[in-house]
Amino acid sequence: MNRRDFLKKSALTAGVVAGSVAVSSAVKPIEVEAKGFGVKEHKGKTIYDVVEMNDEFQPFYRKNIIFERGSTPYRSDFFVNQSAPKEHEGVNHTLLNYALLQGSSMSWGDTTLFYKFRKGKPNSKDGKPQQFKDKKEASYYIKRAAKFYKASAVGIAPYDENFMYVENIEEFKELGFKPKSVVVMCILMNHEILKLYPTLIGGCGAALGYSNMAETAGKVGVFISELGYSSYAGGNNWGMSVPIAISAGLGEGSRMGTLIHPELGTGFRIVKVFTELELECDSPITFGVEDFCNNCKKCADNCPSAAIYKVGKDYADGSNISTRKGIKKWATNSEKCYEYWGEAGCDCGRCITSCPYFKNDTWVHKLSKVVASTPGVNNVARYMDDMFGYGKLPTEETYRNFWENIEV
Ligand code: SF4
Ligand code: SF4
Repeated sequence: MNRRDFLKKSALTAGVVAGSVAVSSAVKPIEVEAKGFGVKEHKGKTIYDVVEMNDEFQPFYRKNIIFERGSTPYRSDFFVNQSAPKEHEGVNHTLLNYALLQGSSMSWGDTTLFYKFRKGKPNSKDGKPQQFKDKKEASYYIKRAAKFYKASAVGIAPYDENFMYVENIEEFKELGFKPKSVVVMCILMNHEILKLYPTLIGGCGAALGYSNMAETAGKVGVFISELGYSSYAGGNNWGMSVPIAISAGLGEGSRMGTLIHPELGTGFRIVKVFTELELECDSPITFGVEDFCNNCKKCADNCPSAAIYKVGKDYADGSNISTRKGIKKWATNSEKCYEYWGEAGCDCGRCITSCPYFKNDTWVHKLSKVVASTPGVNNVARYMDDMFGYGKLPTEETYRNFWENIEV
């Protein structure tokens, strides 16, 4: 199916085609409105106004993402190696650390509440759905509930098949469910634990994040179905989290491929709840990440597998099937990244933890944020970050002392 056919089949054909025509040429300057220091909210605009795309933009299959390429050596090597002691034998790959990782992942599996409740059918107690004055009021209550269930940040995106995996579109058809809106939530991970990447304990930070995102999304899904509307709580395999989160006004894409949020920085997970309830959508935001990433390149310097490139944003050439073509972005090489995970015997997030946006808790980084949103001088923030010693690899002693010393 070519892109034109794909767009025709989309429920949002008219809006998407109009948007696509607009983004085929250079992105035009657009009107913005202030939303917090250095943050510009592109009111009334969509992702197609802030992200450049060309005619190579095609439907994308979930089977091509690196974690799904199960029959290739990547996945099997990774899992074989993960349980085998590697270079940090006796420090990293201990049974204690391995058991901690398994416990951290507990709420993220086929037997968990998340999977039980992810398909929320309309279930209001008297059979009548909650009536809202308008979409704005409905969004208000959904967002309040999401925060109540411990979402660190929440935004609303329109449901757009262009950012769903092809398999998802078919799966929704089988479920007889046509979403209209997506509730997108950021779930902050434990930064002290993430700093221990790449080790099994560092991986516990991500695993706990997955467990928490499953719990929060499951609760939001139940809340919506109890209001009398269908919902579907989806993790990484349901829709492309970064563009959907950009649509929901939660941040900007970065050189390392993840979303950067103006307050949370990096070091969070993204989870989505799809619903038939029509909600008021947020607008994309920008706050200087593109300009900052152009100068900084710290994630690329710290990546042990050279999977992050130092070149400018471009259209991916498709040589790696896990990278989607047709979107102007900083593509990363997920094959190299995943191969490194296999060699290390654990997952890695050095890019995330070495990024100057990772640390929002110190005066250096509060100042960095101001500098980062100021074109022309924003590379100063990277030097400040280096100067204060952030982003250095933890020593073996840190891993050894984890059980006694790390604040949890
Ligand atoms: S996770 Fe590690 S190996 Fe992969 S891109 Fe990030 S720093 Fe590189
Ligand atoms: S480390 Fe620097 S270049 Fe990489 S994502 Fe963070 S800000 Fe951008």
